[in-house]
Amino acid sequence: MHRLRFAQGHVTLTLCIGDLPEFAELLRQHPTGPCLPPADLVPETARTVTVIGSGISGAGTARALAERGWQVTVLDAGSAPAAGASGLPVGVIAPHTSHDDSAVSRLTRAGVRLMRHTLQTWLTEGTDWSPTGVMERRLPGKTRRGGVPLSWLNEHAEVAQDWTLPAPPPAPDDAYWHAKGAWLRPVQLVRALLEHPNIRWQGHAKPDALSYVARHSNGTALGDETPTTATWQVLQAGTVLAEASRVVLAAGPGSAALVATATTDGSSPRINPLRGQISWGLMADLPDNTPMPATPVNGNGAFVHSVPTEEGPAWFVGSTYDRLQNEALLLDSDHADNFARLQALHPDTAATLAPLFATVGSGASRVQGWAGVRCGVHDRLPMTGRVHNAPEGLYLNTAMGSRGLTLALLCGELLAAQWHGEPLPIEARLTKFLDAARFKPKDEQ
Ligand SMILES: Cc1cc2nc3c(=O)[nH]c(=O)nc-3n(C[C@H](O)[C@H](O)[C@H](O)COP(=O)(O)OP(=O)(O)OC[C@H]3O[C@@H](n4cnc5c(N)ncnc54)[C@H](O)[C@@H]3O)c2cc1C
Repeated sequence: MHRLRFAQGHVTLTLCIGDLPEFAELLRQHPTGPCLPPADLVPETARTVTVIGSGISGAGTARALAERGWQVTVLDAGSAPAAGASGLPVGVIAPHTSHDDSAVSRLTRAGVRLMRHTLQTWLTEGTDWSPTGVMERRLPGKTRRGGVPLSWLNEHAEVAQDWTLPAPPPAPDDAYWHAKGAWLRPVQLVRALLEHPNIRWQGHAKPDALSYVARHSNGTALGDETPTTATWQVLQAGTVLAEASRVVLAAGPGSAALVATATTDGSSPRINPLRGQISWGLMADLPDNTPMPATPVNGNGAFVHSVPTEEGPAWFVGSTYDRLQNEALLLDSDHADNFARLQALHPDTAATLAPLFATVGSGASRVQGWAGVRCGVHDRLPMTGRVHNAPEGLYLNTAMGSRGLTLALLCGELLAAQWHGEPLPIEARLTKFLDAARFKPKDEQ
Protein backbone atom coordinates (compact mmCIF):
# COMPACT_ATOMS: atom_id res chain seq x y z
CA MET A 1 0.00 0.00 0.00
CA HIS A 2 1.29 3.50 -0.66
CA ARG A 3 -0.31 6.86 -0.23
CA LEU A 4 0.73 10.19 -1.67
CA ARG A 5 -0.63 13.25 0.12
CA PHE A 6 -0.47 16.96 -0.60
CA ALA A 7 -1.21 19.20 2.36
CA GLN A 8 -0.25 22.75 3.27
CA GLY A 9 2.52 22.86 0.68
CA HIS A 10 4.04 19.54 1.83
CA VAL A 11 4.08 16.28 -0.06
CA THR A 12 4.06 13.09 2.04
CA LEU A 13 4.58 9.62 0.63
CA THR A 14 3.69 6.80 3.03
CA LEU A 15 4.72 3.33 1.88
CA CYS A 16 3.64 0.31 3.94
CA ILE A 17 4.83 -3.19 3.02
CA GLY A 18 3.82 -6.31 4.96
CA ASP A 19 0.91 -8.17 6.47
CA LEU A 20 -1.93 -6.77 8.50
CA PRO A 21 -0.26 -7.35 11.91
CA GLU A 22 2.48 -5.01 10.80
CA PHE A 23 -0.08 -2.37 9.85
CA ALA A 24 -1.60 -2.87 13.28
CA GLU A 25 1.76 -2.21 14.94
CA LEU A 26 2.21 0.90 12.83
CA LEU A 27 -1.20 2.09 13.91
CA ARG A 28 -0.32 1.44 17.55
CA GLN A 29 2.76 3.61 17.19
CA HIS A 30 0.92 6.29 15.21
CA PRO A 31 -2.71 6.03 16.25
CA THR A 32 -3.57 9.28 14.56
CA GLY A 33 -0.83 8.92 12.00
CA PRO A 34 -0.72 8.88 8.26
CA CYS A 35 -1.00 5.19 7.36
CA LEU A 36 -4.55 3.84 7.55
CA PRO A 37 -5.51 0.53 6.01
CA PRO A 38 -8.35 0.93 3.52
CA ALA A 39 -11.36 -1.29 4.13
CA ASP A 40 -10.39 -3.70 1.36
CA LEU A 41 -7.29 -4.55 3.44
CA VAL A 42 -9.45 -5.25 6.49
CA PRO A 43 -10.19 -9.01 6.42
CA GLU A 44 -13.85 -9.70 5.74
CA THR A 45 -14.20 -11.37 9.15
CA ALA A 46 -13.15 -8.08 10.78
CA ARG A 47 -15.62 -5.93 8.82
CA THR A 48 -17.76 -5.09 11.80
CA VAL A 49 -19.02 -1.63 12.57
CA THR A 50 -21.18 -0.04 15.24
CA VAL A 51 -23.28 2.89 14.06
CA ILE A 52 -24.61 5.05 16.89
CA GLY A 53 -27.84 6.80 15.95
CA SER A 54 -30.56 5.64 13.59
CA GLY A 55 -31.80 8.80 11.98
CA ILE A 56 -31.34 9.34 8.27
CA SER A 57 -27.54 9.72 8.72
CA GLY A 58 -27.09 6.53 10.72
CA ALA A 59 -29.52 4.47 8.64
CA GLY A 60 -27.96 5.69 5.38
CA THR A 61 -24.44 4.90 6.59
CA ALA A 62 -25.50 1.50 7.91
CA ARG A 63 -27.10 0.63 4.60
CA ALA A 64 -24.13 1.80 2.51
CA LEU A 65 -21.79 -0.36 4.62
CA ALA A 66 -24.12 -3.37 4.83
CA GLU A 67 -24.34 -3.38 1.03
CA ARG A 68 -20.52 -3.63 1.00
CA GLY A 69 -20.48 -6.66 3.27
CA TRP A 70 -20.04 -5.07 6.69
CA GLN A 71 -21.85 -6.53 9.68
CA VAL A 72 -23.52 -3.46 11.14
CA THR A 73 -24.91 -2.99 14.65
CA VAL A 74 -27.03 0.15 14.91
CA LEU A 75 -27.65 1.46 18.42
CA ASP A 76 -30.20 4.12 19.24
CA ALA A 77 -31.35 5.72 22.48
CA GLY A 78 -34.95 5.70 21.24
CA SER A 79 -37.51 2.92 21.32
CA ALA A 80 -37.80 2.98 17.50
CA PRO A 81 -35.63 4.19 14.61
CA ALA A 82 -35.79 7.89 13.69
CA ALA A 83 -36.23 8.99 17.30
CA GLY A 84 -34.55 12.37 16.66
CA ALA A 85 -34.82 15.06 13.99
CA SER A 86 -35.42 12.41 11.31
CA GLY A 87 -38.74 11.63 12.97
CA LEU A 88 -40.24 14.73 11.33
CA PRO A 89 -43.59 13.88 9.74
CA VAL A 90 -42.71 15.36 6.36
CA GLY A 91 -39.70 17.18 4.90
CA VAL A 92 -38.70 18.77 1.63
CA ILE A 93 -35.65 18.19 -0.55
CA ALA A 94 -34.46 20.79 -3.04
CA PRO A 95 -31.05 21.86 -4.32
CA HIS A 96 -29.29 25.01 -3.17
CA THR A 97 -28.51 27.30 -6.09
CA SER A 98 -26.12 30.21 -6.52
CA HIS A 99 -24.71 32.40 -9.29
CA ASP A 100 -21.22 30.95 -8.76
CA ASP A 101 -22.51 27.37 -8.48
CA SER A 102 -20.84 27.08 -5.08
CA ALA A 103 -19.71 23.89 -3.36
CA VAL A 104 -22.98 23.82 -1.39
CA SER A 105 -24.95 24.06 -4.64
CA ARG A 106 -23.03 21.20 -6.21
CA LEU A 107 -23.21 19.06 -3.07
CA THR A 108 -26.96 19.51 -2.76
CA ARG A 109 -27.52 18.53 -6.41
CA ALA A 110 -25.55 15.32 -5.79
CA GLY A 111 -27.57 14.80 -2.61
CA VAL A 112 -30.93 15.33 -4.29
CA ARG A 113 -29.99 12.97 -7.12
CA LEU A 114 -29.03 10.16 -4.70
CA MET A 115 -32.03 10.79 -2.45
CA ARG A 116 -34.47 10.64 -5.36
CA HIS A 117 -32.92 7.43 -6.62
CA THR A 118 -33.22 5.94 -3.10
CA LEU A 119 -36.81 7.10 -2.72
CA GLN A 120 -37.74 5.61 -6.09
CA THR A 121 -36.10 2.33 -5.09
CA TRP A 122 -37.50 1.86 -1.59
CA LEU A 123 -40.63 3.93 -0.99
CA THR A 124 -44.12 4.14 -2.43
CA GLU A 125 -44.65 7.24 -4.53
CA GLY A 126 -47.68 9.28 -3.50
CA THR A 127 -47.76 7.73 -0.03
CA ASP A 128 -44.23 8.06 1.37
CA TRP A 129 -42.86 10.67 -1.01
CA SER A 130 -43.81 12.61 -4.10
CA PRO A 131 -41.62 14.08 -6.88
CA THR A 132 -43.74 17.23 -7.04
CA GLY A 133 -40.99 19.75 -7.70
CA VAL A 134 -40.62 22.66 -5.26
CA MET A 135 -41.18 26.40 -5.72
CA GLU A 136 -38.67 28.51 -3.80
CA ARG A 137 -39.38 32.15 -2.88
CA ARG A 138 -36.41 34.56 -2.52
CA LEU A 139 -37.98 36.75 0.09
CA PRO A 140 -36.69 40.16 1.18
CA GLY A 141 -34.66 39.98 4.38
CA LYS A 142 -33.20 36.56 3.68
CA THR A 143 -29.42 36.64 3.81
CA ARG A 144 -28.98 34.38 0.79
CA ARG A 145 -29.25 36.18 -2.55
CA GLY A 146 -29.38 32.89 -4.43
CA GLY A 147 -29.89 32.82 -8.17
CA VAL A 148 -28.70 30.24 -10.65
CA PRO A 149 -25.46 30.20 -12.67
CA LEU A 150 -25.94 32.69 -15.51
CA SER A 151 -24.78 30.05 -18.02
CA TRP A 152 -27.89 28.02 -17.13
CA LEU A 153 -30.05 30.80 -18.48
CA ASN A 154 -28.43 30.73 -21.93
CA GLU A 155 -25.91 28.18 -23.19
CA HIS A 156 -26.79 25.46 -20.62
CA ALA A 157 -30.55 25.97 -20.57
CA GLU A 158 -31.09 22.20 -20.55
CA VAL A 159 -29.42 22.00 -17.12
CA ALA A 160 -31.80 24.66 -15.84
CA GLN A 161 -34.75 22.73 -17.27
CA ASP A 162 -33.61 19.65 -15.36
CA TRP A 163 -32.83 21.45 -12.12
CA THR A 164 -33.78 25.06 -11.43
CA LEU A 165 -35.14 27.99 -13.42
CA PRO A 166 -37.14 31.14 -12.72
CA ALA A 167 -40.71 30.04 -12.01
CA PRO A 168 -43.12 31.06 -14.79
CA PRO A 169 -46.11 33.34 -14.03
CA PRO A 170 -48.40 33.37 -12.11
CA ALA A 171 -45.59 32.63 -9.60
CA PRO A 172 -44.18 35.79 -7.98
CA ASP A 173 -41.12 37.40 -9.66
CA ASP A 174 -38.83 36.22 -6.87
CA ALA A 175 -39.74 32.54 -7.28
CA TYR A 176 -37.59 29.75 -8.63
CA TRP A 177 -38.77 26.33 -9.70
CA HIS A 178 -36.77 23.27 -8.56
CA ALA A 179 -37.87 20.53 -10.96
CA LYS A 180 -36.26 17.75 -8.90
CA GLY A 181 -37.65 18.92 -5.56
CA ALA A 182 -39.83 16.51 -3.59
CA TRP A 183 -41.49 15.90 -0.25
CA LEU A 184 -40.88 12.75 1.75
CA ARG A 185 -41.73 11.04 5.01
CA PRO A 186 -38.27 10.37 6.44
CA VAL A 187 -39.37 7.79 9.01
CA GLN A 188 -40.52 5.44 6.26
CA LEU A 189 -37.16 5.83 4.54
CA VAL A 190 -35.15 5.20 7.71
CA ARG A 191 -37.09 1.99 8.33
CA ALA A 192 -36.59 0.82 4.74
CA LEU A 193 -32.84 1.49 4.85
CA LEU A 194 -32.40 -0.52 8.04
CA GLU A 195 -34.10 -3.57 6.46
CA HIS A 196 -30.99 -5.49 5.46
CA PRO A 197 -29.72 -8.90 6.60
CA ASN A 198 -26.35 -7.40 7.63
CA ILE A 199 -27.95 -4.76 9.89
CA ARG A 200 -28.94 -5.41 13.50
CA TRP A 201 -30.88 -2.55 15.16
CA GLN A 202 -31.00 -2.15 18.93
CA GLY A 203 -33.11 0.46 20.68
CA HIS A 204 -33.04 1.79 24.26
CA ALA A 205 -29.25 1.84 23.89
CA LYS A 206 -27.70 5.11 24.96
CA PRO A 207 -23.94 4.70 25.13
CA ASP A 208 -21.98 7.22 27.14
CA ALA A 209 -18.39 6.21 26.33
CA LEU A 210 -16.19 4.70 23.62
CA SER A 211 -13.09 2.68 24.34
CA TYR A 212 -10.31 1.65 21.92
CA VAL A 213 -8.98 -1.78 22.85
CA ALA A 214 -5.86 -3.30 21.30
CA ARG A 215 -5.27 -7.02 21.95
CA HIS A 216 -2.93 -9.83 21.01
CA SER A 217 -4.38 -12.50 18.77
CA ASN A 218 -4.79 -14.76 21.81
CA GLY A 219 -7.16 -12.17 23.30
CA THR A 220 -4.88 -10.88 26.07
CA ALA A 221 -4.56 -7.16 26.61
CA LEU A 222 -1.73 -5.27 25.04
CA GLY A 223 1.71 -5.43 26.66
CA ASP A 224 5.03 -4.63 25.04
CA GLU A 225 4.54 -7.05 22.18
CA THR A 226 2.89 -6.46 18.86
CA PRO A 227 -0.92 -6.17 18.94
CA THR A 228 -2.77 -7.97 16.20
CA THR A 229 -6.32 -6.71 16.63
CA ALA A 230 -7.88 -3.46 17.71
CA THR A 231 -11.57 -2.90 18.34
CA TRP A 232 -13.85 -0.21 19.62
CA GLN A 233 -16.10 -0.95 22.56
CA VAL A 234 -19.27 1.07 22.97
CA LEU A 235 -20.16 1.39 26.64
CA GLN A 236 -23.20 2.39 28.67
CA ALA A 237 -22.55 2.83 32.41
CA GLY A 238 -19.48 0.59 32.05
CA THR A 239 -21.32 -2.24 30.25
CA VAL A 240 -20.21 -3.13 26.73
CA LEU A 241 -23.18 -2.69 24.37
CA ALA A 242 -21.28 -3.48 21.19
CA GLU A 243 -17.77 -4.14 19.95
CA ALA A 244 -16.56 -3.71 16.39
CA SER A 245 -13.52 -2.75 14.37
CA ARG A 246 -15.01 0.66 13.56
CA VAL A 247 -17.59 3.07 14.97
CA VAL A 248 -19.60 5.71 13.12
CA LEU A 249 -21.18 8.42 15.26
CA ALA A 250 -24.45 9.55 13.70
CA ALA A 251 -26.12 10.54 16.94
CA GLY A 252 -27.04 14.09 15.94
CA PRO A 253 -26.63 16.46 18.89
CA GLY A 254 -25.42 13.51 21.04
CA SER A 255 -22.36 12.90 18.84
CA ALA A 256 -19.95 15.47 20.30
CA ALA A 257 -20.16 14.12 23.88
CA LEU A 258 -19.27 10.64 22.61
CA VAL A 259 -16.32 11.97 20.59
CA ALA A 260 -14.95 13.60 23.74
CA THR A 261 -14.70 10.20 25.46
CA ALA A 262 -12.42 8.90 22.72
CA THR A 263 -10.07 11.69 21.69
CA THR A 264 -6.53 11.85 22.97
CA ASP A 265 -7.15 15.23 24.66
CA GLY A 266 -10.87 14.92 25.53
CA SER A 267 -11.80 17.52 22.91
CA SER A 268 -14.71 17.33 20.49
CA PRO A 269 -15.99 19.42 17.61
CA ARG A 270 -18.47 22.15 18.50
CA ILE A 271 -21.76 20.78 17.19
CA ASN A 272 -24.63 23.10 18.07
CA PRO A 273 -28.20 21.96 18.72
CA LEU A 274 -30.93 23.78 16.80
CA ARG A 275 -34.49 23.02 17.86
CA GLY A 276 -37.30 23.35 15.32
CA GLN A 277 -41.09 23.00 15.33
CA ILE A 278 -43.54 22.26 12.53
CA SER A 279 -47.23 23.19 12.68
CA TRP A 280 -49.70 20.92 10.94
CA GLY A 281 -53.35 20.07 10.60
CA LEU A 282 -55.83 18.04 8.63
CA MET A 283 -57.04 18.95 5.16
CA ALA A 284 -60.48 17.83 6.37
CA ASP A 285 -60.64 20.95 8.59
CA LEU A 286 -60.46 23.23 5.53
CA PRO A 287 -63.49 24.23 3.44
CA ASP A 288 -63.98 22.15 0.29
CA ASN A 289 -62.16 23.42 -2.82
CA THR A 290 -59.84 25.63 -0.77
CA PRO A 291 -57.19 26.92 -3.24
CA MET A 292 -53.74 25.61 -2.41
CA PRO A 293 -50.36 25.98 -4.15
CA ALA A 294 -49.86 23.21 -6.68
CA THR A 295 -46.55 22.09 -5.14
CA PRO A 296 -44.57 22.56 -1.93
CA VAL A 297 -43.29 26.10 -1.45
CA ASN A 298 -40.13 26.96 0.50
CA GLY A 299 -37.90 29.94 1.11
CA ASN A 300 -38.88 30.96 4.64
CA GLY A 301 -39.72 27.60 6.08
CA ALA A 302 -41.85 25.44 3.82
CA PHE A 303 -45.52 24.67 3.16
CA VAL A 304 -46.59 21.21 1.97
CA HIS A 305 -50.13 19.89 1.74
CA SER A 306 -52.18 16.78 0.99
CA VAL A 307 -49.59 14.51 2.59
CA PRO A 308 -51.07 11.16 3.70
CA THR A 309 -50.91 10.60 7.48
CA GLU A 310 -52.57 8.06 9.77
CA GLU A 311 -55.21 10.69 10.60
CA GLY A 312 -55.89 11.60 6.98
CA PRO A 313 -54.33 13.96 4.40
CA ALA A 314 -52.59 16.86 6.15
CA TRP A 315 -50.92 20.22 5.59
CA PHE A 316 -47.58 21.18 7.17
CA VAL A 317 -45.85 24.51 7.67
CA GLY A 318 -42.54 25.37 9.28
CA SER A 319 -40.20 25.20 10.75
CA THR A 320 -38.82 27.43 13.46
CA TYR A 321 -35.13 27.87 14.44
CA ASP A 322 -34.44 27.93 18.17
CA ARG A 323 -30.87 28.03 19.45
CA LEU A 324 -31.90 28.37 23.10
CA GLN A 325 -33.67 25.08 23.82
CA ASN A 326 -32.05 21.76 23.11
CA GLU A 327 -35.08 19.64 23.99
CA ALA A 328 -37.84 18.79 21.52
CA LEU A 329 -40.45 20.95 23.30
CA LEU A 330 -43.74 22.02 21.70
CA LEU A 331 -44.42 25.73 22.09
CA ASP A 332 -47.53 27.73 21.14
CA SER A 333 -45.27 30.68 20.34
CA ASP A 334 -43.69 28.58 17.59
CA HIS A 335 -47.09 28.08 15.96
CA ALA A 336 -47.40 31.86 15.78
CA ASP A 337 -43.92 32.04 14.30
CA ASN A 338 -44.80 29.43 11.66
CA PHE A 339 -47.97 31.30 10.79
CA ALA A 340 -45.97 34.51 10.29
CA ARG A 341 -43.60 32.62 7.98
CA LEU A 342 -46.54 31.34 5.96
CA GLN A 343 -47.92 34.86 5.60
CA ALA A 344 -44.67 35.89 3.90
CA LEU A 345 -44.29 32.66 1.92
CA HIS A 346 -47.82 32.20 0.60
CA PRO A 347 -50.26 34.89 1.78
CA ASP A 348 -53.36 33.26 0.20
CA THR A 349 -52.76 30.00 2.04
CA ALA A 350 -52.08 31.89 5.27
CA ALA A 351 -55.45 33.62 4.92
CA THR A 352 -57.11 30.21 4.43
CA LEU A 353 -55.41 28.73 7.50
CA ALA A 354 -55.86 31.80 9.74
CA PRO A 355 -59.06 30.47 11.41
CA LEU A 356 -57.25 27.26 12.34
CA PHE A 357 -54.25 29.11 13.79
CA ALA A 358 -56.71 31.22 15.79
CA THR A 359 -57.60 28.03 17.73
CA VAL A 360 -54.03 27.54 19.02
CA GLY A 361 -53.93 27.51 22.83
CA SER A 362 -57.72 27.20 23.12
CA GLY A 363 -57.88 23.58 24.26
CA ALA A 364 -59.69 22.75 20.98
CA SER A 365 -56.78 23.60 18.74
CA ARG A 366 -56.98 22.37 15.15
CA VAL A 367 -53.23 22.94 14.78
CA GLN A 368 -50.85 20.24 15.94
CA GLY A 369 -47.11 20.42 16.41
CA TRP A 370 -44.02 18.33 15.96
CA ALA A 371 -40.62 19.39 17.31
CA GLY A 372 -37.11 18.00 16.92
CA VAL A 373 -33.51 19.02 17.47
CA ARG A 374 -31.25 19.25 14.45
CA CYS A 375 -27.58 20.12 14.87
CA GLY A 376 -24.84 21.79 12.90
CA VAL A 377 -21.42 23.37 12.87
CA HIS A 378 -20.68 26.98 12.03
CA ASP A 379 -20.19 26.53 8.28
CA ARG A 380 -23.53 24.65 8.11
CA LEU A 381 -22.06 21.64 6.32
CA PRO A 382 -22.01 18.04 7.54
CA MET A 383 -19.15 16.48 9.48
CA THR A 384 -18.30 13.29 7.63
CA GLY A 385 -15.12 11.29 8.07
CA ARG A 386 -12.50 10.21 10.53
CA VAL A 387 -12.14 11.78 13.99
CA HIS A 388 -8.59 13.03 13.51
CA ASN A 389 -7.45 13.03 17.13
CA ALA A 390 -8.72 9.59 18.14
CA PRO A 391 -7.22 6.19 17.33
CA GLU A 392 -8.03 4.80 13.90
CA GLY A 393 -11.52 3.45 13.42
CA LEU A 394 -13.69 6.27 14.78
CA TYR A 395 -15.81 8.25 12.29
CA LEU A 396 -18.47 10.93 12.29
CA ASN A 397 -21.45 11.38 10.02
CA THR A 398 -23.55 14.12 11.55
CA ALA A 399 -24.20 17.90 11.74
CA MET A 400 -26.69 17.81 8.86
CA GLY A 401 -28.31 21.09 9.96
CA SER A 402 -31.43 21.94 7.96
CA ARG A 403 -30.43 19.85 4.95
CA GLY A 404 -30.22 16.36 6.37
CA LEU A 405 -32.78 14.98 3.98
CA THR A 406 -30.78 16.27 1.03
CA LEU A 407 -27.25 15.46 2.25
CA ALA A 408 -27.25 12.60 4.77
CA LEU A 409 -27.46 9.70 2.32
CA LEU A 410 -24.77 11.26 0.14
CA CYS A 411 -22.49 11.57 3.17
CA GLY A 412 -23.08 7.94 4.19
CA GLU A 413 -22.29 6.81 0.65
CA LEU A 414 -19.18 9.01 0.59
CA LEU A 415 -17.90 7.50 3.84
CA ALA A 416 -18.44 3.94 2.59
CA ALA A 417 -16.79 4.74 -0.78
CA GLN A 418 -13.79 6.26 1.01
CA TRP A 419 -13.40 3.18 3.22
CA HIS A 420 -13.30 0.99 0.15
CA GLY A 421 -11.14 3.20 -2.07
CA GLU A 422 -13.99 3.38 -4.59
CA PRO A 423 -14.71 6.22 -7.01
CA LEU A 424 -16.42 8.91 -4.95
CA PRO A 425 -20.06 9.95 -5.40
CA ILE A 426 -18.94 13.63 -5.63
CA GLU A 427 -16.03 15.49 -7.19
CA ALA A 428 -12.94 14.76 -5.05
CA ARG A 429 -12.39 18.47 -4.38
CA LEU A 430 -15.82 18.77 -2.75
CA THR A 431 -14.91 16.23 -0.06
CA LYS A 432 -12.92 18.83 1.88
CA PHE A 433 -16.11 20.78 2.56
CA LEU A 434 -17.55 17.75 4.38
CA ASP A 435 -14.41 16.40 6.01
CA ALA A 436 -14.89 15.97 9.77
CA ALA A 437 -11.25 17.03 10.24
CA ARG A 438 -11.61 20.37 8.42
CA PHE A 439 -11.53 22.41 11.66
CA LYS A 440 -8.43 20.82 13.15
CA PRO A 441 -5.61 23.23 14.01
CA LYS A 442 -3.47 24.21 11.02
CA ASP A 443 -0.28 22.86 12.64
CA GLU A 444 -1.82 19.36 12.75
CA GLN A 445 -2.73 19.33 9.05
C1 LIG B 1 -38.71 20.77 12.51
C2 LIG B 1 -37.66 20.31 11.54
C3 LIG B 1 -37.90 20.40 10.17
C4 LIG B 1 -36.94 19.98 9.25
N1 LIG B 1 -37.21 20.05 7.91
C5 LIG B 1 -36.29 19.60 7.02
C6 LIG B 1 -36.54 19.61 5.63
O1 LIG B 1 -37.63 20.00 5.18
N2 LIG B 1 -35.55 19.19 4.80
C7 LIG B 1 -34.34 18.74 5.26
O2 LIG B 1 -33.49 18.36 4.47
N3 LIG B 1 -34.08 18.69 6.58
C8 LIG B 1 -35.02 19.11 7.46
N4 LIG B 1 -34.74 19.08 8.80
C9 LIG B 1 -33.43 18.62 9.22
C10 LIG B 1 -33.35 17.10 9.22
O3 LIG B 1 -34.47 16.60 9.89
C11 LIG B 1 -32.05 16.68 9.92
O4 LIG B 1 -30.95 17.28 9.27
C12 LIG B 1 -31.85 15.18 9.86
O5 LIG B 1 -33.03 14.50 10.24
C13 LIG B 1 -30.71 14.79 10.78
O6 LIG B 1 -30.59 13.40 10.73
P1 LIG B 1 -29.53 12.68 11.64
O7 LIG B 1 -29.69 11.22 11.38
O8 LIG B 1 -28.20 13.29 11.44
O9 LIG B 1 -29.94 13.03 13.14
P2 LIG B 1 -31.20 12.53 13.96
O10 LIG B 1 -32.34 12.23 13.09
O11 LIG B 1 -31.39 13.50 15.06
O12 LIG B 1 -30.72 11.13 14.54
C14 LIG B 1 -29.89 11.01 15.65
C15 LIG B 1 -30.27 9.73 16.37
O13 LIG B 1 -29.29 9.49 17.38
C16 LIG B 1 -29.93 9.05 18.54
N5 LIG B 1 -29.04 9.38 19.65
C17 LIG B 1 -28.67 10.60 20.13
N6 LIG B 1 -27.77 10.46 21.12
C18 LIG B 1 -27.56 9.14 21.27
C19 LIG B 1 -26.74 8.36 22.11
N7 LIG B 1 -25.90 8.88 23.02
N8 LIG B 1 -26.77 7.02 21.99
C20 LIG B 1 -27.59 6.43 21.08
N9 LIG B 1 -28.39 7.13 20.25
C21 LIG B 1 -28.37 8.45 20.34
C22 LIG B 1 -31.27 9.76 18.55
O14 LIG B 1 -32.20 9.01 19.30
C23 LIG B 1 -31.61 9.82 17.07
O15 LIG B 1 -32.41 8.72 16.66
C24 LIG B 1 -35.70 19.47 9.73
C25 LIG B 1 -35.48 19.35 11.09
C26 LIG B 1 -36.44 19.76 12.00
C27 LIG B 1 -36.17 19.61 13.48
